[in-house]
Amino acid sequence: VKMGNSAFDLAELRAEQERDAAIATAHNTVGRIGSLVCVDCTEDIEEARRLAAPFAQRCIECQNLHERKS
Ligand SMILES: [Zn+2]
Repeated sequence: VKMGNSAFDLAELRAEQERDAAIATAHNTVGRIGSLVCVDCTEDIEEARRLAAPFAQRCIECQNLHERKS
């Protein structure tokens, strides 16, 4: 870690956390188990996918990307 960048890193981390929290709040307003919209791209998740995977938080494309990354 380079000296002098900690404040920037912290601010960036905070911004990221706040964005995640805002997204989580927006997606959980009615206490659903899954999400109506993809947490990654914010596109609507198809009803067929929600029925097949009620816990899904991502659309099929983002889920595939997510699984490939991990
Ligand atoms: Zn998506």
